[in-house]
Amino acid sequence: MFNKEIIIQGVPASPGIGIASAHVVSQDLLQVERRSIKEADLSEEIKSLENALLKTKQEIVKIQKNMAHEMGSKYANIFDVQLMLLEDRVLLEEIIERLRRELCGVEYVFFDVLKKYKKALAKLDDPYLKERAQDINDFGKRVLKNLIGEDMSIIRELKEKTILIAHELSPSDTAILNKDFILGLVTESGGPTTHTAIMAKSFEIPAIVGAENSTFKIETGSTVIVDGGSGKLIANPSQATLKLYKEKKGQVEARLARLMDFKDSESKTKDNVDIKIMANIELPLEVKSAQSHGADGIGLYRTEYFYLNRSDLPTEDEQYQAYKMVALQMAPDIVIVRTLDLGGDKFISQMDISYELNPFLGWRAIRFCLARPEIFKTQLRAILRASVHGDIQIMFPMISGIEEVDEARKIVAQVMQDLDEEEIPYDKDVKIGAMIETPSAAMVCDHLKDRIDFFSIGTNDLIQYSIAVDRINEKIAYLYEPAHPGVLRLISRVIKDCKEYNASVGMCGEMAGVNYFFPLLLGLGLREFSVSPLRIPELKLIVSVIEIAQAEEIAASVMKMDSARSIKDFLKKELKRLLGEEYGELIEV
Ligand code: PEP
Ligand code: MG
Repeated sequence: MFNKEIIIQGVPASPGIGIASAHVVSQDLLQVERRSIKEADLSEEIKSLENALLKTKQEIVKIQKNMAHEMGSKYANIFDVQLMLLEDRVLLEEIIERLRRELCGVEYVFFDVLKKYKKALAKLDDPYLKERAQDINDFGKRVLKNLIGEDMSIIRELKEKTILIAHELSPSDTAILNKDFILGLVTESGGPTTHTAIMAKSFEIPAIVGAENSTFKIETGSTVIVDGGSGKLIANPSQATLKLYKEKKGQVEARLARLMDFKDSESKTKDNVDIKIMANIELPLEVKSAQSHGADGIGLYRTEYFYLNRSDLPTEDEQYQAYKMVALQMAPDIVIVRTLDLGGDKFISQMDISYELNPFLGWRAIRFCLARPEIFKTQLRAILRASVHGDIQIMFPMISGIEEVDEARKIVAQVMQDLDEEEIPYDKDVKIGAMIETPSAAMVCDHLKDRIDFFSIGTNDLIQYSIAVDRINEKIAYLYEPAHPGVLRLISRVIKDCKEYNASVGMCGEMAGVNYFFPLLLGLGLREFSVSPLRIPELKLIVSVIEIAQAEEIAASVMKMDSARSIKDFLKKELKRLLGEEYGELIEV
Protein backbone atom coordinates (compact mmCIF):
# COMPACT_ATOMS: atom_id res chain seq x y z
CA MET A 1 0.00 0.00 0.00
CA PHE A 2 1.25 3.47 -0.81
CA ASN A 3 1.52 5.67 2.28
CA LYS A 4 1.57 9.41 1.98
CA GLU A 5 4.65 11.29 3.18
CA ILE A 6 3.91 12.95 6.52
CA ILE A 7 5.93 15.89 7.84
CA ILE A 8 5.62 16.99 11.46
CA GLN A 9 7.49 20.02 12.72
CA GLY A 10 8.64 19.60 16.31
CA VAL A 11 11.21 21.28 18.54
CA PRO A 12 14.86 20.37 17.82
CA ALA A 13 16.27 18.59 20.88
CA SER A 14 19.41 16.69 19.91
CA PRO A 15 21.24 17.14 16.59
CA GLY A 16 21.90 14.55 13.91
CA ILE A 17 19.83 12.57 11.46
CA GLY A 18 18.31 9.19 12.18
CA ILE A 19 16.61 7.00 9.57
CA ALA A 20 14.92 3.73 10.56
CA SER A 21 11.54 2.14 11.04
CA ALA A 22 9.32 3.56 13.76
CA HIS A 23 8.31 2.01 17.03
CA VAL A 24 5.33 3.90 18.40
CA VAL A 25 4.76 3.54 22.14
CA SER A 26 1.40 4.11 23.70
CA GLN A 27 2.38 4.88 27.27
CA ASP A 28 -0.86 5.39 29.04
CA LEU A 29 -1.13 2.34 31.26
CA LEU A 30 -4.69 3.06 32.16
CA GLN A 31 -5.94 2.55 28.63
CA VAL A 32 -6.72 -1.10 29.17
CA GLU A 33 -8.35 -2.95 26.28
CA ARG A 34 -11.25 -5.31 26.81
CA ARG A 35 -10.54 -8.80 25.52
CA SER A 36 -12.80 -11.86 25.62
CA ILE A 37 -11.83 -15.05 27.42
CA LYS A 38 -13.22 -18.59 27.55
CA GLU A 39 -14.74 -20.05 30.68
CA ALA A 40 -11.88 -22.55 30.81
CA ASP A 41 -9.41 -19.65 31.16
CA LEU A 42 -11.09 -18.24 34.26
CA SER A 43 -8.81 -19.84 36.84
CA GLU A 44 -5.71 -18.71 34.90
CA GLU A 45 -7.00 -15.14 34.88
CA ILE A 46 -7.69 -15.21 38.62
CA LYS A 47 -4.28 -16.71 39.29
CA SER A 48 -2.54 -13.97 37.32
CA LEU A 49 -4.39 -11.33 39.33
CA GLU A 50 -3.40 -13.00 42.60
CA ASN A 51 0.21 -13.15 41.47
CA ALA A 52 0.16 -9.50 40.49
CA LEU A 53 -1.34 -8.55 43.88
CA LEU A 54 1.32 -10.57 45.69
CA LYS A 55 4.14 -9.01 43.67
CA THR A 56 2.70 -5.54 44.31
CA LYS A 57 2.53 -6.25 48.02
CA GLN A 58 6.18 -7.33 48.09
CA GLU A 59 7.17 -4.17 46.25
CA ILE A 60 5.21 -1.90 48.59
CA VAL A 61 6.50 -3.58 51.75
CA LYS A 62 10.07 -3.16 50.48
CA ILE A 63 9.52 0.51 49.67
CA GLN A 64 7.90 1.02 53.06
CA LYS A 65 10.84 -0.55 54.85
CA ASN A 66 13.32 1.65 53.02
CA MET A 67 11.29 4.74 53.74
CA ALA A 68 10.93 3.89 57.40
CA HIS A 69 14.69 3.41 57.56
CA GLU A 70 15.51 6.64 55.72
CA MET A 71 12.78 8.93 56.96
CA GLY A 72 10.90 7.38 59.85
CA SER A 73 7.68 5.39 59.98
CA LYS A 74 5.48 8.50 59.72
CA TYR A 75 6.26 8.80 56.03
CA ALA A 76 6.19 5.09 55.36
CA ASN A 77 2.55 5.05 56.44
CA ILE A 78 1.50 6.73 53.22
CA PHE A 79 1.36 3.26 51.70
CA ASP A 80 -1.11 1.93 54.25
CA VAL A 81 -4.11 2.63 52.04
CA GLN A 82 -2.53 0.72 49.17
CA LEU A 83 -1.75 -2.22 51.44
CA MET A 84 -5.33 -2.21 52.69
CA LEU A 85 -6.61 -2.30 49.13
CA LEU A 86 -4.34 -5.27 48.43
CA GLU A 87 -5.95 -7.20 51.26
CA ASP A 88 -9.49 -6.11 50.45
CA ARG A 89 -11.58 -9.28 50.00
CA VAL A 90 -14.66 -7.35 48.87
CA LEU A 91 -12.70 -5.81 46.03
CA LEU A 92 -11.25 -9.17 45.00
CA GLU A 93 -14.63 -10.88 45.14
CA GLU A 94 -16.25 -8.17 43.07
CA ILE A 95 -13.56 -8.62 40.41
CA ILE A 96 -13.93 -12.40 40.37
CA GLU A 97 -17.69 -12.17 40.22
CA ARG A 98 -17.55 -9.82 37.21
CA LEU A 99 -14.93 -12.00 35.53
CA ARG A 100 -17.31 -14.98 35.69
CA ARG A 101 -20.25 -12.93 34.49
CA GLU A 102 -18.57 -10.99 31.68
CA LEU A 103 -15.83 -13.41 30.56
CA CYS A 104 -13.32 -10.72 29.68
CA GLY A 105 -9.62 -10.14 30.55
CA VAL A 106 -8.86 -9.69 34.24
CA GLU A 107 -6.90 -6.46 33.67
CA TYR A 108 -9.97 -4.82 32.16
CA VAL A 109 -12.25 -5.88 35.03
CA PHE A 110 -9.69 -4.78 37.61
CA PHE A 111 -9.30 -1.43 35.89
CA ASP A 112 -13.05 -0.91 35.58
CA VAL A 113 -13.82 -1.78 39.20
CA LEU A 114 -11.10 0.57 40.43
CA LYS A 115 -12.47 3.33 38.24
CA LYS A 116 -15.82 2.96 39.97
CA TYR A 117 -14.21 3.17 43.43
CA LYS A 118 -12.25 6.22 42.40
CA LYS A 119 -15.29 8.00 41.06
CA ALA A 120 -17.23 7.34 44.24
CA LEU A 121 -14.40 8.74 46.38
CA ALA A 122 -13.90 11.79 44.19
CA LYS A 123 -17.54 12.77 44.69
CA LEU A 124 -17.24 12.92 48.48
CA ASP A 125 -16.88 16.25 50.29
CA ASP A 126 -14.39 14.97 52.83
CA PRO A 127 -10.97 16.20 51.58
CA TYR A 128 -9.15 13.28 53.25
CA LEU A 129 -11.27 10.70 51.46
CA LYS A 130 -11.02 12.65 48.22
CA GLU A 131 -7.25 12.42 48.46
CA ARG A 132 -7.56 8.64 48.66
CA ALA A 133 -8.64 8.63 45.00
CA GLN A 134 -4.96 9.32 44.27
CA ASP A 135 -3.95 6.27 46.32
CA ILE A 136 -6.33 4.16 44.27
CA ASN A 137 -4.74 5.51 41.12
CA ASP A 138 -1.21 4.64 42.27
CA PHE A 139 -2.35 1.26 43.47
CA GLY A 140 -4.05 0.58 40.13
CA LYS A 141 -0.95 1.51 38.17
CA ARG A 142 1.28 -0.70 40.28
CA VAL A 143 -0.99 -3.74 39.97
CA LEU A 144 -1.57 -3.23 36.25
CA LYS A 145 2.14 -2.94 35.69
CA ASN A 146 2.57 -6.34 37.32
CA LEU A 147 -0.42 -7.76 35.50
CA ILE A 148 0.25 -6.73 31.93
CA GLY A 149 3.82 -5.47 32.16
CA GLU A 150 4.88 -1.89 31.79
CA ASP A 151 4.67 -0.75 28.21
CA MET A 152 7.92 1.13 28.52
CA SER A 153 9.91 -2.04 29.22
CA ILE A 154 9.83 -2.46 25.46
CA ILE A 155 12.36 0.33 25.11
CA ARG A 156 14.94 -1.69 26.98
CA GLU A 157 14.28 -4.75 24.89
CA LEU A 158 14.33 -3.30 21.39
CA LYS A 159 16.66 -5.43 19.31
CA GLU A 160 16.37 -3.75 15.95
CA LYS A 161 17.45 -0.34 14.80
CA THR A 162 14.48 1.82 15.61
CA ILE A 163 13.17 5.36 15.88
CA LEU A 164 11.22 5.52 19.12
CA ILE A 165 8.09 7.66 19.10
CA ALA A 166 6.18 8.21 22.35
CA HIS A 167 3.85 10.73 23.85
CA GLU A 168 6.27 11.28 26.66
CA LEU A 169 9.46 9.71 27.93
CA SER A 170 10.36 10.31 31.54
CA PRO A 171 14.03 10.79 32.42
CA SER A 172 13.87 7.30 33.94
CA ASP A 173 12.54 5.85 30.68
CA THR A 174 15.29 7.61 28.76
CA ALA A 175 17.95 6.31 31.12
CA ILE A 176 17.15 2.68 30.24
CA LEU A 177 17.14 3.15 26.47
CA ASN A 178 19.14 0.58 24.60
CA LYS A 179 21.41 3.05 22.87
CA ASP A 180 22.68 0.53 20.32
CA PHE A 181 19.29 0.21 18.73
CA ILE A 182 17.65 3.60 19.12
CA LEU A 183 18.59 5.72 16.12
CA GLY A 184 16.24 8.55 16.96
CA LEU A 185 13.84 9.73 19.63
CA VAL A 186 10.59 11.62 19.19
CA THR A 187 8.16 12.77 21.85
CA GLU A 188 4.89 14.63 21.49
CA SER A 189 5.42 16.49 24.72
CA GLY A 190 8.29 18.57 26.02
CA GLY A 191 10.42 21.61 25.26
CA PRO A 192 14.08 21.92 24.26
CA THR A 193 15.44 21.58 27.80
CA THR A 194 13.26 18.69 28.93
CA HIS A 195 15.53 16.17 30.61
CA THR A 196 14.71 13.68 27.88
CA ALA A 197 16.25 16.09 25.37
CA ILE A 198 19.31 16.57 27.57
CA MET A 199 19.77 12.81 27.92
CA ALA A 200 19.35 12.26 24.16
CA LYS A 201 22.15 14.74 23.57
CA SER A 202 24.34 12.92 26.07
CA PHE A 203 23.69 9.64 24.30
CA GLU A 204 24.25 11.31 20.93
CA ILE A 205 20.85 10.21 19.69
CA PRO A 206 19.07 12.61 17.26
CA ALA A 207 15.87 13.76 18.95
CA ILE A 208 12.80 15.90 18.48
CA VAL A 209 10.35 16.91 21.22
CA GLY A 210 6.96 18.58 20.94
CA ALA A 211 6.15 16.63 17.75
CA GLU A 212 2.40 16.92 18.12
CA ASN A 213 0.17 13.97 17.28
CA SER A 214 3.08 11.87 16.06
CA THR A 215 1.86 8.77 17.93
CA PHE A 216 -1.47 9.06 16.13
CA LYS A 217 -0.21 9.93 12.69
CA ILE A 218 2.65 7.44 12.49
CA GLU A 219 2.39 3.69 12.64
CA THR A 220 4.89 1.22 14.02
CA GLY A 221 6.93 -0.20 11.17
CA SER A 222 6.77 2.81 8.86
CA THR A 223 10.03 4.37 7.74
CA VAL A 224 10.79 7.64 9.48
CA ILE A 225 13.45 10.32 9.34
CA VAL A 226 14.36 12.32 12.45
CA ASP A 227 16.22 15.53 11.71
CA GLY A 228 17.23 16.59 15.21
CA GLY A 229 18.90 19.76 13.95
CA SER A 230 15.79 21.25 12.35
CA GLY A 231 13.14 19.45 14.43
CA LYS A 232 11.58 17.87 11.33
CA LEU A 233 10.02 14.41 11.55
CA ILE A 234 9.20 12.76 8.23
CA ALA A 235 7.26 9.51 7.97
CA ASN A 236 6.81 7.41 4.82
CA PRO A 237 9.36 9.52 2.94
CA SER A 238 9.26 9.49 -0.86
CA GLN A 239 12.28 8.03 -2.66
CA ALA A 240 13.48 11.57 -3.37
CA THR A 241 13.18 12.66 0.30
CA LEU A 242 14.91 9.52 1.50
CA LYS A 243 17.80 10.09 -0.92
CA LEU A 244 18.10 13.71 0.17
CA TYR A 245 18.27 12.84 3.87
CA LYS A 246 20.68 9.96 3.35
CA GLU A 247 23.01 12.44 1.66
CA LYS A 248 22.43 14.99 4.39
CA LYS A 249 23.17 12.38 7.05
CA GLY A 250 26.46 11.57 5.34
CA GLN A 251 27.36 15.26 5.22
CA VAL A 252 26.50 15.82 8.90
CA GLU A 253 28.58 12.83 9.94
CA ALA A 254 31.54 13.96 7.83
CA ARG A 255 31.28 17.46 9.30
CA LEU A 256 31.17 16.16 12.88
CA ALA A 257 34.15 13.92 12.20
CA ARG A 258 36.16 16.93 10.94
CA LEU A 259 35.14 18.95 13.99
CA MET A 260 36.66 16.29 16.21
CA ASP A 261 40.06 17.57 15.03
CA PHE A 262 39.52 20.49 17.40
CA LYS A 263 38.72 18.46 20.50
CA ASP A 264 42.25 18.52 21.83
CA SER A 265 43.09 22.10 20.94
CA GLU A 266 43.70 24.39 23.89
CA SER A 267 40.70 26.42 25.00
CA LYS A 268 42.36 29.79 24.42
CA THR A 269 41.05 32.78 22.53
CA LYS A 270 43.07 34.25 19.67
CA ASP A 271 44.40 36.81 22.14
CA ASN A 272 45.42 34.07 24.59
CA VAL A 273 42.72 34.27 27.21
CA ASP A 274 42.07 30.92 28.91
CA ILE A 275 38.56 29.59 28.64
CA LYS A 276 37.34 26.44 30.35
CA ILE A 277 35.00 24.20 28.35
CA MET A 278 33.76 21.39 30.53
CA ALA A 279 31.17 18.65 30.10
CA ASN A 280 27.76 17.98 31.62
CA ILE A 281 27.16 14.33 32.46
CA GLU A 282 24.27 12.38 33.88
CA LEU A 283 25.80 8.93 34.26
CA PRO A 284 29.35 7.92 35.24
CA LEU A 285 29.82 6.08 31.94
CA GLU A 286 29.52 9.41 30.10
CA VAL A 287 32.97 10.36 31.38
CA LYS A 288 34.26 8.48 28.32
CA SER A 289 32.33 10.75 26.01
CA ALA A 290 33.45 13.84 27.96
CA GLN A 291 37.06 12.76 27.54
CA SER A 292 36.78 11.74 23.91
CA HIS A 293 35.31 15.17 23.08
CA GLY A 294 38.11 17.00 24.90
CA ALA A 295 36.36 18.27 28.06
CA ASP A 296 38.41 20.43 30.46
CA GLY A 297 36.57 18.87 33.43
CA ILE A 298 33.02 18.00 34.45
CA GLY A 299 31.16 21.23 35.14
CA LEU A 300 27.89 19.53 36.02
CA TYR A 301 27.38 15.97 37.15
CA ARG A 302 23.62 15.51 37.52
CA THR A 303 23.16 12.83 40.18
CA GLU A 304 19.41 12.29 40.00
CA TYR A 305 19.79 9.28 37.75
CA PHE A 306 21.01 7.19 40.67
CA TYR A 307 17.59 7.45 42.16
CA LEU A 308 15.51 6.59 39.09
CA ASN A 309 14.37 3.18 37.85
CA ARG A 310 14.72 1.37 41.14
CA SER A 311 12.59 0.47 44.11
CA ASP A 312 15.14 1.36 46.79
CA LEU A 313 17.33 4.37 47.53
CA PRO A 314 20.98 4.31 46.46
CA THR A 315 23.35 3.53 49.31
CA GLU A 316 26.24 5.72 50.41
CA ASP A 317 28.76 3.19 49.19
CA GLU A 318 27.18 2.80 45.79
CA GLN A 319 27.28 6.56 45.30
CA TYR A 320 30.81 6.81 46.70
CA GLN A 321 32.07 4.25 44.17
CA ALA A 322 30.53 6.18 41.28
CA TYR A 323 31.81 9.62 42.38
CA LYS A 324 35.23 8.13 43.08
CA MET A 325 35.38 6.58 39.61
CA VAL A 326 34.45 9.86 37.91
CA ALA A 327 36.94 11.81 40.06
CA LEU A 328 39.79 9.38 39.35
CA GLN A 329 39.09 9.31 35.63
CA MET A 330 38.91 13.09 35.32
CA ALA A 331 41.81 13.95 37.68
CA PRO A 332 43.47 16.42 37.83
CA ASP A 333 40.50 18.22 36.22
CA ILE A 334 37.58 19.28 38.35
CA VAL A 335 34.32 17.38 38.78
CA ILE A 336 31.39 19.41 40.03
CA VAL A 337 28.89 17.05 41.61
CA ARG A 338 25.47 18.60 41.85
CA THR A 339 23.46 17.35 44.77
CA LEU A 340 20.16 15.67 44.17
CA ASP A 341 17.75 17.67 41.98
CA LEU A 342 14.56 15.65 42.17
CA GLY A 343 11.10 17.00 41.49
CA GLY A 344 10.14 19.08 38.45
CA ASP A 345 10.14 16.45 35.71
CA LYS A 346 12.29 13.97 37.64
CA PHE A 347 10.62 11.72 40.17
CA ILE A 348 11.69 8.68 42.06
CA SER A 349 9.23 5.87 42.33
CA GLN A 350 10.31 4.83 45.82
CA MET A 351 9.44 8.21 47.31
CA ASP A 352 5.96 8.65 45.91
CA ILE A 353 6.24 12.42 46.00
CA SER A 354 2.66 13.56 46.08
CA TYR A 355 1.08 15.17 43.07
CA GLU A 356 1.68 18.91 42.77
CA LEU A 357 -0.07 21.39 40.54
CA ASN A 358 3.18 23.21 39.75
CA PRO A 359 6.02 20.74 40.24
CA PHE A 360 8.65 23.12 38.84
CA LEU A 361 7.65 25.67 41.47
CA GLY A 362 7.29 23.03 44.11
CA TRP A 363 9.07 20.57 46.29
CA ARG A 364 12.21 20.27 44.23
CA ALA A 365 15.99 20.01 44.45
CA ILE A 366 17.49 21.71 47.52
CA ARG A 367 14.00 22.17 49.01
CA PHE A 368 13.50 18.41 48.92
CA CYS A 369 16.99 17.72 50.29
CA LEU A 370 16.60 20.11 53.22
CA ALA A 371 13.29 18.48 54.10
CA ARG A 372 14.80 14.99 53.83
CA PRO A 373 18.17 15.45 55.55
CA GLU A 374 18.82 11.71 55.83
CA ILE A 375 18.77 11.30 52.06
CA PHE A 376 20.83 14.48 51.63
CA LYS A 377 23.39 13.41 54.23
CA THR A 378 23.86 10.01 52.62
CA GLN A 379 24.72 11.72 49.35
CA LEU A 380 26.98 14.32 50.97
CA ARG A 381 28.91 11.61 52.82
CA ALA A 382 29.46 9.78 49.55
CA ILE A 383 30.63 12.93 47.75
CA LEU A 384 32.93 13.99 50.58
CA ARG A 385 34.48 10.53 50.87
CA ALA A 386 35.13 10.57 47.11
CA SER A 387 36.70 14.03 47.34
CA VAL A 388 40.09 12.54 48.27
CA HIS A 389 40.32 10.89 44.87
CA GLY A 390 40.31 13.99 42.68
CA ASP A 391 39.20 17.60 42.47
CA ILE A 392 35.58 17.13 43.49
CA GLN A 393 33.41 20.17 44.16
CA ILE A 394 29.85 20.25 45.48
CA MET A 395 27.04 22.30 43.96
CA PHE A 396 23.54 22.97 45.31
CA PRO A 397 20.66 23.22 42.81
CA MET A 398 17.68 25.63 42.85
CA ILE A 399 18.98 28.01 45.47
CA SER A 400 16.55 30.88 45.91
CA GLY A 401 18.19 32.80 48.75
CA ILE A 402 20.79 32.81 51.51
CA GLU A 403 18.74 30.76 53.98
CA GLU A 404 18.91 27.63 51.85
CA VAL A 405 22.67 27.98 51.44
CA ASP A 406 23.12 28.45 55.20
CA GLU A 407 20.97 25.45 55.99
CA ALA A 408 22.64 23.25 53.37
CA ARG A 409 26.09 24.27 54.61
CA LYS A 410 25.06 23.45 58.15
CA ILE A 411 24.23 19.92 57.03
CA VAL A 412 27.56 19.67 55.17
CA ALA A 413 29.33 20.73 58.40
CA GLN A 414 27.47 18.05 60.37
CA VAL A 415 28.45 15.41 57.84
CA MET A 416 32.07 16.58 57.98
CA GLN A 417 32.00 16.34 61.74
CA ASP A 418 30.64 12.79 61.56
CA LEU A 419 33.40 11.84 59.12
CA ASP A 420 36.02 13.41 61.42
CA GLU A 421 34.72 11.40 64.36
CA GLU A 422 34.82 8.24 62.28
CA GLU A 423 38.31 9.18 61.05
CA ILE A 424 37.20 8.93 57.44
CA PRO A 425 39.29 11.15 55.16
CA TYR A 426 37.81 13.84 52.88
CA ASP A 427 38.96 17.07 51.31
CA LYS A 428 38.51 19.61 54.11
CA ASP A 429 38.77 22.49 51.64
CA VAL A 430 36.21 21.09 49.25
CA LYS A 431 34.67 23.91 47.22
CA ILE A 432 30.95 24.43 47.56
CA GLY A 433 28.93 26.27 44.93
CA ALA A 434 25.38 27.28 44.12
CA MET A 435 23.47 27.18 40.89
CA ILE A 436 21.91 30.42 39.79
CA GLU A 437 18.61 29.15 38.45
CA THR A 438 16.08 31.46 40.04
CA PRO A 439 15.74 35.19 39.33
CA SER A 440 15.83 35.81 43.08
CA ALA A 441 19.26 34.18 43.39
CA ALA A 442 20.45 36.03 40.29
CA MET A 443 19.68 39.33 42.01
CA VAL A 444 21.51 38.56 45.25
CA CYS A 445 24.91 37.25 44.19
CA ASP A 446 26.39 39.90 46.49
CA HIS A 447 24.74 38.27 49.51
CA LEU A 448 25.47 34.74 48.35
CA LYS A 449 29.09 35.27 47.43
CA ASP A 450 30.46 35.12 51.00
CA ARG A 451 28.67 31.88 51.65
CA ILE A 452 29.85 29.88 48.68
CA ASP A 453 32.96 29.37 46.54
CA PHE A 454 31.48 29.52 43.06
CA PHE A 455 28.34 30.07 41.00
CA SER A 456 27.06 28.24 37.96
CA ILE A 457 24.26 29.75 35.89
CA GLY A 458 21.60 27.13 35.14
CA THR A 459 19.88 28.75 32.21
CA ASN A 460 17.43 25.89 31.65
CA ASP A 461 15.62 26.82 34.81
CA LEU A 462 16.58 30.48 34.93
CA ILE A 463 14.83 31.01 31.59
CA GLN A 464 11.69 29.14 32.60
CA TYR A 465 11.42 31.07 35.85
CA SER A 466 12.15 34.50 34.39
CA ILE A 467 9.86 34.23 31.37
CA ALA A 468 7.30 32.18 33.36
CA VAL A 469 7.36 29.46 30.71
CA ASP A 470 7.21 25.81 31.74
CA ARG A 471 10.29 24.26 30.14
CA ILE A 472 8.57 20.97 29.35
CA ASN A 473 5.31 22.30 27.93
CA GLU A 474 5.32 21.96 24.14
CA LYS A 475 2.39 24.37 23.74
CA ILE A 476 4.48 27.29 24.93
CA ALA A 477 7.88 26.07 23.72
CA TYR A 478 7.88 29.05 21.31
CA LEU A 479 8.11 31.36 24.34
CA TYR A 480 11.11 29.59 25.80
CA GLU A 481 13.79 31.97 24.60
CA PRO A 482 17.37 32.29 25.86
CA ALA A 483 17.80 35.39 23.66
CA HIS A 484 14.98 37.28 25.40
CA PRO A 485 16.51 40.66 26.27
CA GLY A 486 15.21 40.27 29.84
CA VAL A 487 17.00 36.95 30.25
CA LEU A 488 20.19 38.39 28.79
CA ARG A 489 20.12 41.33 31.20
CA LEU A 490 19.74 38.93 34.12
CA ILE A 491 22.65 36.78 32.92
CA SER A 492 24.76 39.85 32.23
CA ARG A 493 24.08 41.15 35.72
CA VAL A 494 25.14 37.87 37.35
CA ILE A 495 28.40 37.79 35.39
CA LYS A 496 29.10 41.45 36.10
CA ASP A 497 28.32 41.14 39.81
CA CYS A 498 30.51 38.07 40.14
CA LYS A 499 33.37 39.87 38.41
CA GLU A 500 32.97 42.83 40.74
CA TYR A 501 33.00 40.59 43.83
CA ASN A 502 35.77 38.40 42.45
CA ALA A 503 33.51 35.38 42.60
CA SER A 504 33.96 32.50 40.20
CA VAL A 505 31.05 32.00 37.78
CA GLY A 506 30.31 29.54 34.99
CA MET A 507 27.30 28.44 32.98
CA CYS A 508 26.00 24.89 32.70
CA GLY A 509 22.54 25.28 31.15
CA GLU A 510 21.92 24.26 27.54
CA MET A 511 22.40 27.85 26.38
CA ALA A 512 26.13 27.53 27.11
CA GLY A 513 26.40 24.95 24.33
CA VAL A 514 24.55 26.89 21.61
CA ASN A 515 27.26 27.97 19.18
CA TYR A 516 25.95 31.44 18.29
CA PHE A 517 25.53 32.45 21.97
CA PHE A 518 29.16 31.65 22.68
CA PRO A 519 30.73 34.95 21.46
CA LEU A 520 28.02 36.89 23.32
CA LEU A 521 28.66 35.06 26.58
CA LEU A 522 32.42 35.55 26.19
CA GLY A 523 31.79 39.22 25.58
CA LEU A 524 29.66 39.45 28.72
CA GLY A 525 32.70 38.17 30.64
CA LEU A 526 31.97 34.46 31.02
CA ARG A 527 35.06 32.24 31.02
CA GLU A 528 33.74 28.87 32.19
CA PHE A 529 31.26 26.79 30.24
CA SER A 530 29.86 23.35 30.85
CA VAL A 531 28.02 21.76 27.94
CA SER A 532 26.89 18.49 26.46
CA PRO A 533 30.12 16.65 25.42
CA LEU A 534 28.98 16.66 21.80
CA ARG A 535 29.21 20.46 21.70
CA ILE A 536 32.77 20.76 22.94
CA PRO A 537 34.74 20.46 19.66
CA GLU A 538 32.78 23.23 17.94
CA LEU A 539 33.10 25.56 20.93
CA LYS A 540 36.85 24.93 20.96
CA LEU A 541 36.97 25.89 17.31
CA ILE A 542 35.04 29.11 17.97
CA VAL A 543 37.32 30.02 20.88
CA SER A 544 40.31 29.72 18.60
CA VAL A 545 38.99 32.26 16.06
CA ILE A 546 37.80 35.02 18.39
CA GLU A 547 39.44 37.80 20.39
CA ILE A 548 37.88 39.07 23.60
CA ALA A 549 37.60 42.60 22.20
CA GLN A 550 35.51 41.26 19.29
CA ALA A 551 33.30 39.34 21.69
CA GLU A 552 32.82 42.46 23.83
CA GLU A 553 31.80 44.46 20.79
CA ILE A 554 29.22 41.80 19.88
CA ALA A 555 27.88 41.78 23.45
CA ALA A 556 27.63 45.59 23.55
CA SER A 557 25.55 45.60 20.34
CA VAL A 558 23.29 42.78 21.54
CA MET A 559 22.54 44.42 24.87
CA LYS A 560 21.03 47.38 23.02
CA MET A 561 18.66 45.23 20.97
CA ASP A 562 15.01 44.81 21.86
CA SER A 563 13.95 41.48 20.40
CA ALA A 564 15.11 37.90 20.54
CA ARG A 565 14.66 37.58 16.79
CA SER A 566 17.00 40.44 15.95
CA ILE A 567 19.49 39.28 18.59
CA LYS A 568 19.63 35.76 17.17
CA ASP A 569 19.86 36.96 13.56
CA PHE A 570 22.72 39.25 14.53
CA LEU A 571 24.55 36.57 16.54
CA LYS A 572 24.27 34.02 13.75
CA LYS A 573 25.60 36.52 11.23
CA GLU A 574 28.49 37.44 13.51
CA LEU A 575 29.43 33.81 14.12
CA LYS A 576 29.45 33.11 10.38
CA ARG A 577 31.64 36.16 9.87
CA LEU A 578 34.08 35.00 12.56
CA LEU A 579 34.29 31.49 11.12
CA GLY A 580 34.85 32.83 7.61
CA GLU A 581 35.26 30.58 4.61
CA GLU A 582 37.80 28.40 6.30
CA TYR A 583 35.50 27.07 9.01
CA GLY A 584 32.07 28.24 7.89
CA GLU A 585 31.08 24.84 6.54
CA LEU A 586 32.14 23.01 9.68
CA ILE A 587 29.58 24.54 11.98
CA GLU A 588 25.86 24.56 11.42
CA VAL A 589 24.70 27.93 12.71
C1 PEP B 1 19.69 24.23 34.48
O1 PEP B 1 18.61 24.43 35.03
O2 PEP B 1 20.18 25.01 33.63
C2 PEP B 1 20.44 23.02 34.79
C3 PEP B 1 21.65 22.83 34.30
O3 PEP B 1 19.83 22.10 35.57
P1 PEP B 1 18.75 21.04 35.05
O4 PEP B 1 18.67 21.12 33.56
O5 PEP B 1 19.20 19.69 35.50
O6 PEP B 1 17.50 21.50 35.72
MG1 MG C 1 18.10 23.24 36.72
